[in-house]
Amino acid sequence: MKKVDIDKYTYHIEWSEELNAHIATCLEFPLLSAEGKSSELALKEVKKLITKRVEWIIDKKQKLPKLQKTIKKNKTNSNLSEVEYIDFLTGLYNRNYCQKVFKNYAKLETPFSFVYFDIDGFKAVNDTLNHEVGDKILQVVSNSLTDVLGDDVYLFRLGGDEFACVVSDEISAITTTECIDKILSIFNETIYLETVYIDLTISLGVVYYPKNISNVKDIFKVAEIVVQEAKKNRENSICFFEKELKNKMEAKVLMESCLSVALRKNELFLVYQPIIQLNDEDSIVFEALLRWHSTDLGFVSPAEFIPLAESMGQICSIGLWVIEKAMEKLAYLKTQSSKNVMVSINISVLQITEANFVNNVKQLIEKHNISPNSLIFEFTESIFIENSELNKEILKNIRNLGVYIAIDDFGTGYSSLTYLKDMDINCLKIDKTFVDELGKSDKSNALVEAIINVGHKLNMDITAEGIETKEQLDILKAFGCDSIQGYYYSKPLPEDQLDKYL
Ligand code: C2E
Ligand code: CA
Ligand code: CA
Repeated sequence: MKKVDIDKYTYHIEWSEELNAHIATCLEFPLLSAEGKSSELALKEVKKLITKRVEWIIDKKQKLPKLQKTIKKNKTNSNLSEVEYIDFLTGLYNRNYCQKVFKNYAKLETPFSFVYFDIDGFKAVNDTLNHEVGDKILQVVSNSLTDVLGDDVYLFRLGGDEFACVVSDEISAITTTECIDKILSIFNETIYLETVYIDLTISLGVVYYPKNISNVKDIFKVAEIVVQEAKKNRENSICFFEKELKNKMEAKVLMESCLSVALRKNELFLVYQPIIQLNDEDSIVFEALLRWHSTDLGFVSPAEFIPLAESMGQICSIGLWVIEKAMEKLAYLKTQSSKNVMVSINISVLQITEANFVNNVKQLIEKHNISPNSLIFEFTESIFIENSELNKEILKNIRNLGVYIAIDDFGTGYSSLTYLKDMDINCLKIDKTFVDELGKSDKSNALVEAIINVGHKLNMDITAEGIETKEQLDILKAFGCDSIQGYYYSKPLPEDQLDKYL
């Protein structure tokens, strides 16, 4: 830390108003001291305090953004096109340039390590402190990284809160271990940002080329998986690409390739779980649940393949296929029963962001000659978290078709409840985790009873999911729950076994 001569403190005053503010606070102390006047001693105290403050601010100032540094450095070093290869928020190299570096090293047959990290819980920081502060944090972090890593390694901002270094033990001035230590040294300190202090932690993954991976094309994908592993551990944790992980990755790649042809190979089918209407014997609802029997992998759980289909972008075509199949079934069941038969279909948030979603649904309704008010679309609360305004608009359009809307896994989504009053939601499905707790404590019961009451006040039907015991059923009946779904009545059934509920 720099020594400061207090008699020259006027130099520093021009740096920021904040410094003036600190000096003012310092001055207050001795003037209001027991002596009641500014004695020689009090003045000394003031000087000491100001010195301390100035030193502190100099220290912090050194860590504030020096935005142009990397851009200028890069410019003089090569003919890089700024737009193509530079991240403008931080001045670091971007993802495109990173790919270029990979290719160059691969061409020169030079081994390197890819050190990839992201900031834990950065989304929450962004949401609570607003995006401008989020941007400043990224700038401060990237400047600190530039300071500690200098020209020793390539440094990238890959997007969002993701950063990376490429270290070649043959070419770089430091080793991979030294690089990691330097990165971690930044996050072991509290970061100061104008008026707030922030403690950030990162999760870091390391992939060695070509030791861990033979094709540079796969490096990002592998590194993401490694970082996800790191996230399972404590804060500021590091994960190296290891055999176990390699197996996991290969399994994922295999599953992806099988899933991409599953629809074409007729490996997907639907099962239907009855949802019993407690006060309406004339109605029956079936929830359509997707199943995959892969010729290569056997049965794969939807909890496993649906997130994969989402990450691959496959969920839109698969989801539309589910809607059509469920409609066909519904049309058939209607011919078999005098009851009011309805089908409830799970819809992934990603599906509705497809431009034609509402139109596609409308066309399918017409094609299969279905009454739209025999259909329920189930969405999780996440629909109200990201892109919420656009999603609300799409939900309204779906509702305008006449299709009912249910909130699935209600109570697990951490979203604000204001949407319940803003939107035309028809049903809440209380998540199984709440049902599991019924009868175990007064509080658990009170919570479920309260959800049912709030839902009813807002004119919604309440379905409870995952009922396995008579005790749970009795409690839910006593609370006035409208409908019940769970193994207690029936597991999901193959499509030719629904008769006894018709
Ligand atoms: P979900 O929508 O919450 O579906 C209910 C899940 O709970 C189903 O699991 C069902 O079999 C299971 N379940 C129902 N009653 C009981 C019970 O009493 N005890 C227990 N232990 N489990 C019960 P499944 O079929 O494995 O589906 C898992 C998740 O996969 C679904 O959760 C849903 O989020 C998703 N999913 C299934 N089909 C589709 C689909 O066509 N599209 C989309 N986007 N997601 C789907
Ligand atoms: Ca569901
Ligand atoms: Ca559910």
